[in-house]
Amino acid sequence: MGKAAVITGSTSGIGLAIARALAAEGCSIALNSFTDRPEDEALAGSISDEFGVEAFYVRADMAKAGECRRLVEDATRRFRRLDILVNNVGIQHVAPVEEFPTERWDAILAINLSSAFHTIAAAVPHMKRQGGGRIVNIASAHGLRASPFKSAYVAAKHGVVGLTKTVALELAEEHITCNAVCPGYVLTPLVEAQIPDQMKAHNMDRETVVRQVMLAKQPTREFATVEQMAASVVFLCSDMAAQITGTTLSIDGGWTAQ
Ligand code: NAD
Repeated sequence: MGKAAVITGSTSGIGLAIARALAAEGCSIALNSFTDRPEDEALAGSISDEFGVEAFYVRADMAKAGECRRLVEDATRRFRRLDILVNNVGIQHVAPVEEFPTERWDAILAINLSSAFHTIAAAVPHMKRQGGGRIVNIASAHGLRASPFKSAYVAAKHGVVGLTKTVALELAEEHITCNAVCPGYVLTPLVEAQIPDQMKAHNMDRETVVRQVMLAKQPTREFATVEQMAASVVFLCSDMAAQITGTTLSIDGGWTAQ
């Protein structure tokens, strides 16, 4: 593929898997998180060594408009082009709506929704000038369905799906596609960390809590994998997906068929 890609929130979980899968296709990679640790630079170095591509880390806090735009500008300057933007960063908070902390609502809307607006706004002029590009937004089954106690997350992810469709229409004649991937539950470190607490809370063993509590809405009763998410992003960034735009791709074990 040999393209240049920016992936927001990509030092862990789905974002890291997407970065690795694009690197395996020969893409140059800009990794991102808000941290400033030696491990972040080392991660970029290991991707570069393993796949023989240019890879670097850009520290930028996706809660802040200016930093979202700076990430895209910094990466584009270093690559001298920009072909792929993957808006992956996301956080979660669970609480009843009347108790939902305002600060958490603001953070989730900023990181899960507004960051995609800012990075897209910064990326589009470069993609237009080059004559094309690919934008993939990692939404969620919660971009299409609701669950209680996740008001901010569900609102933000529905917003991401709306943003995706609008951007796709605006750029339809520019050879720039914009699509959303909608994962169900994926076994990332974030989800793995919740299992012991759920086992304790429900007094169940691991297998039972996963099947009956965590995957209650996912008909296959299996987690999706980060590699499955990454493969779908690679496909959406390929030439064969040039006519796929403004749509959602559910990878949710049947959740949204219900
Ligand atoms: P994760 O927590 O494993 O990774 C999130 C990444 O974002 C990390 O690299 C983290 O350092 C980074 N990050 C967090 N806050 C940031 C900030 N302010 N600025 C920059 N980077 C920041 O999460 P994940 O499970 O891989 O989720 C990735 C995306 O997939 C999210 O948008 C999430 O909503 C979505 N998603 C995940 C699941 C799931 O089951 N894991 C399901 C549906 C959708």
